[in-house]
Amino acid sequence: MRICRFENDRVGVVDGDEVVDVTAALDILPTCRYPLAKNDPLIANLNLLVPLFRERIGTGRRRALADLDLKSPIANAGKVVCAPVNYRKHLDEARADADIHFNNKILEIQQVGLFLKATSSIVGPSEGVSIRHPQRRNDHEVELAVIIGTQANRVAREEALNYVAGYCIGLDMTLRGPEDRSLRKSIDTYTVLGPWIVTADEIPDPSSLNLSLTVNGALRQAANTGSLLVGIPELIEFASSFYTLMPGDVVLTGTPEGVGPIIPGDIMEASIDGIGRMSVEVNAVH
Ligand code: MN
Repeated sequence: MRICRFENDRVGVVDGDEVVDVTAALDILPTCRYPLAKNDPLIANLNLLVPLFRERIGTGRRRALADLDLKSPIANAGKVVCAPVNYRKHLDEARADADIHFNNKILEIQQVGLFLKATSSIVGPSEGVSIRHPQRRNDHEVELAVIIGTQANRVAREEALNYVAGYCIGLDMTLRGPEDRSLRKSIDTYTVLGPWIVTADEIPDPSSLNLSLTVNGALRQAANTGSLLVGIPELIEFASSFYTLMPGDVVLTGTPEGVGPIIPGDIMEASIDGIGRMSVEVNAVH
């Protein structure tokens, strides 16, 4: 199932070039009271919601997908866990280009570990990326985004995919420079998630998906998740050996070679097999 968010508070099921509004099914979610749970309530209750969404596909109000402003399919992510350099050719290009590495040591994940982005950086494709520090280099990074569905603490790689709710496209936008990654990559709008979640049952094998990104129609990045240095099960095992992953947490799995600068006015189009494609505008910060 493909589940999207639109118009701030609407949830829909994508059916071809239409979206069925299934928002009313969210009435089963528990009423939120202080203190709030550390998870995304829609994702935490996805197993209950999917059958209710399915019941509404025949009767719910239909909208043309093209007419909708799509938001991040995850409204309340608790963490954005990121793999720093997870494709061999990107490792090589990052080490070779001083404008990418800025004398930061580019080490492999087993040595450098994972990093976190602020969840306040998350937007959906319709919101676009707003460039801060435009005098410096700002890059696109297309990545497969894994959405955690079940609380996962010290999970073995053999079991890891059982904890996944689904997948979406992620753009890990990056200001280049000498500062820590978590600062440079946590700028508002620098994590684009979309265009929707594809539930894990539709992607039984996430380790062989083509992903690509164009800027103004010119191909910049094209690779396959089969080239990940640390695969998705191993990333979940590694992350959950340090901290508990919660429903709605997002794992950005790393970007392949071909990262490059974007400037206000550019249009990025990202696509991943089995998920779809999304178009994202680059704007000046207002
Ligand atoms: Mn990245």
